[in-house]
Amino acid sequence: MSSITFIGLGVMGYPMAGHLARAGHAVTVFNRTPAKAAAWVAEYGGARAATPALAARDADVVLTCVGNDDDLRQVTLGPDGALAAMRAGALFVDHTTVSASIARELAAFRDDLLVLDAPVSGGQAGAVNGALTIMCGGAPLAFAAAEPVLAAYAKRIGLMGPAGSGQLTKMVNQIAIAGVLEGLAEAIHFALAAGLDATSVFDVIGKGAAQSWQMDNRAGTMAKGEYDFGFAVDWMRKDLGLVLDEAKRLDISLPATALVDQFYGDVQAMGGRRQDTSALLRRFRSL
Ligand code: NAP
Repeated sequence: MSSITFIGLGVMGYPMAGHLARAGHAVTVFNRTPAKAAAWVAEYGGARAATPALAARDADVVLTCVGNDDDLRQVTLGPDGALAAMRAGALFVDHTTVSASIARELAAFRDDLLVLDAPVSGGQAGAVNGALTIMCGGAPLAFAAAEPVLAAYAKRIGLMGPAGSGQLTKMVNQIAIAGVLEGLAEAIHFALAAGLDATSVFDVIGKGAAQSWQMDNRAGTMAKGEYDFGFAVDWMRKDLGLVLDEAKRLDISLPATALVDQFYGDVQAMGGRRQDTSALLRRFRSL
C-alpha cells in the first residue's frame, strides 16, 4: 500500500480520497477550507496537512482535484505548492478538468517525477460509487504506476497519449455531451408543445436510435423541471471555454458547441449557475 496525498476535497475529491483510504492506503489530505479536511479525517482516518507542500513532501503519490487552471496552478506551483516539495521518483496525478497547456506545463516542471493528467467523467455519483471513467495523458511508466491506485474509484481508465491528451479527451467528451443535451432539450420542448406525453415518448424512442445516457437518465427529470443532478452549469461553461480555446489553437470551428456555450450563458443569467447541465431546457420552459 502507498503513502498518498489528496489535495482538494470538493464534491468529487472528498469521496475519491475516501475510496483510497478504504482501499488501505495511508492518505494525507489538504483542503483550502480546513473544516472539510477535518471532516474527512473524522470520517476516514488518515492525516491532514496545513499546506499542499507539507501534504506532498513524503508521499509516493500526490493527487489533485481542484477547480480550474488558476486553482491548480496555486496548489501545485504557487508558494507552498505541491510539485517542488515532492520527492524524486514520486507520482503526480491531476484529476481537475483544466487546459491541455497547463497539463503539459506541470509535466515539464520537473524531470524526476512521474506525471499524469487524468480528468474524470461520471459525476458526483461516479465518484461516490467508485465508478468514474478516467482519461489519462502522460508517459506509459506514469500510467502503469497510477493504474492500480486509480482503480479504487474507476470503472474504466485509459491512456490517451502524451501529457495533455487526457484533457483533450475530456474536451471531446464535453463537446459530445453539449450537443446531446441541446438536442434533448429541443426534443422535450417540441414534445410538450405538441401535446404529447413526455414519459411515453421517451419510453418508446429511448429504445430506438435516439437513445442516449442523457435521454435514459435526464429526459424524465427535465420534463418535470428538476435540475439538481450534479455537474453544474458553471463547470460546463468552464469546460466549453477550454474546448473553444483549444479549437481556436487547432484552427477549427465548432459552431454547435459555441452556440450551446452561449445558451449556457443564458441559463447562468436566469439564475441557473449551480443547476445541472440539463437546465438548458429552461431557455424554453420556465418550470
Ligand atoms: P468543488 O466541489 O467546487 O471542489 C473544488 C475543490 O477545489 C474544493 O476542495 C476547493 O476547496 C478546492 N479549491 C478550489 N480552488 C482552490 C484554490 N485556489 N486553492 C486550493 N484549493 C482550491 O468541485 P468538484 O465538483 O469537486 O470539481 C472538481 C473538478 O472536477 C473540476 O475541475 C470539475 O470541472 C471536475 N469535474 C467535476 C464533476 C462533477 O460532477 N462535479 C464531474 C467531472 C469533472 P474549498 O473547499 O476550500 O472550496
